[in-house]
Amino acid sequence: MTDQWHPETAGIRAGSGHTEFGENSEAIFLTSSFVFENAAQAAARFSGKEPGNIYSRFTNPTVTAFQEKLAALEGTEFCVATSSGMAAILATVMGLCSAGDHIVASRSIFGTSVQLFSSILARWGLQTTFVSLTDPEAWRAAVQPNTKLFFVETPSNPLTEVCDIQVLADIAHKHGALLAVDNCFCTPALQKPLTLGADIIIHSATKYIDGQGRCLGGAVLGSKALLEPVYGFLRTAGPTLSAFNAWVFLKGLETLFVRMEAHTRNALELAQWLENQPGVARVYYPGLASHPQHALAMKQQKSGGAIVSFDVKGGQEAAWRLIDATRMISITANLGDAKSTITHPATTTHSRVTPEARAAAGISDGLIRIAVGLEHIEDLKRDLAMLARP
Ligand SMILES: *Cc1c(COP(=O)(O)O)cnc(C)c1O
Repeated sequence: MTDQWHPETAGIRAGSGHTEFGENSEAIFLTSSFVFENAAQAAARFSGKEPGNIYSRFTNPTVTAFQEKLAALEGTEFCVATSSGMAAILATVMGLCSAGDHIVASRSIFGTSVQLFSSILARWGLQTTFVSLTDPEAWRAAVQPNTKLFFVETPSNPLTEVCDIQVLADIAHKHGALLAVDNCFCTPALQKPLTLGADIIIHSATKYIDGQGRCLGGAVLGSKALLEPVYGFLRTAGPTLSAFNAWVFLKGLETLFVRMEAHTRNALELAQWLENQPGVARVYYPGLASHPQHALAMKQQKSGGAIVSFDVKGGQEAAWRLIDATRMISITANLGDAKSTITHPATTTHSRVTPEARAAAGISDGLIRIAVGLEHIEDLKRDLAMLARP
């Protein structure tokens, strides 16, 4: 049944069911443990002879419903939900790599992911080589005999660079490694990495899956055989998703497709407008013909997404002046919210990166990132009207 649904329908119907009460909106099972009819049933559940819930660190019906819905949307066999996006990345590495293994990661990934790989996992004997997202030769050259995992985000944050997922998957597979794609920016509404050759999809559900900035959560998706150790890590180490947050994400997924369509319609119009403002030096948005990987993005993604970055003329001073002149857009580093958000990466998300490394990564002092929300486009333009004045 699920296989025959259009994705929009699967977002609403997949993974949904009801209890004996016939509720149409899924119930939240806020319970840490589950009771058994008798001692024999408890033993059967624990031994795995009888399927069923035991304890919410292992399984919980609300979390299971969320996992089934997201797996249906990404077209994967299996999904394990986690307490945050970072927990999803950690669980992936802990489940699939061991001390002495090597990881190749894009240089343009979420700042905390860089910290996780370079500071924490390195202390446990996992070395990571960071390379340019858009240079396949650099990935090929970085491979070592012990390379286990390739890790990318596409489009990247904040410069919206796009890599060819199929090309990186082919390089990884040729060398016996796996490709994991953090699909947080696109969501399955815009991009389906497994159909492009990736092995693992990672989500911060905190962003567009929630869609209204309420809860933290994450997910890892792929084949059941591959993700069995990732699930094993979660049920033992414990960074599992709460039933309440899973319920919020279930509701979020019902509106994912219409929201992403509206987000990206606004983002494209804002990006086109920004390109014509005298206060703007350059706009970074995959949906614009001026984007260096525009053709690839349009082939790989359904649209350019909802993150628009741009360089203002006048460096940090002008960037801060613009941010402080906004009256509506939220000044925060979060994204994926109905509320548009504005960030100055050089002094916030990327402030721990050295100025030289920032410059090498193309993150200028005048760079601004907007995660375009669902407000009316004319109100967004009005909030940024300072850019219209030379
Ligand atoms: C936010 C984010 C994460 C981390 O997710 P949390 O839910 O905050 O732990 C990982 N990757 C990307 C691309 C993100 O934007």
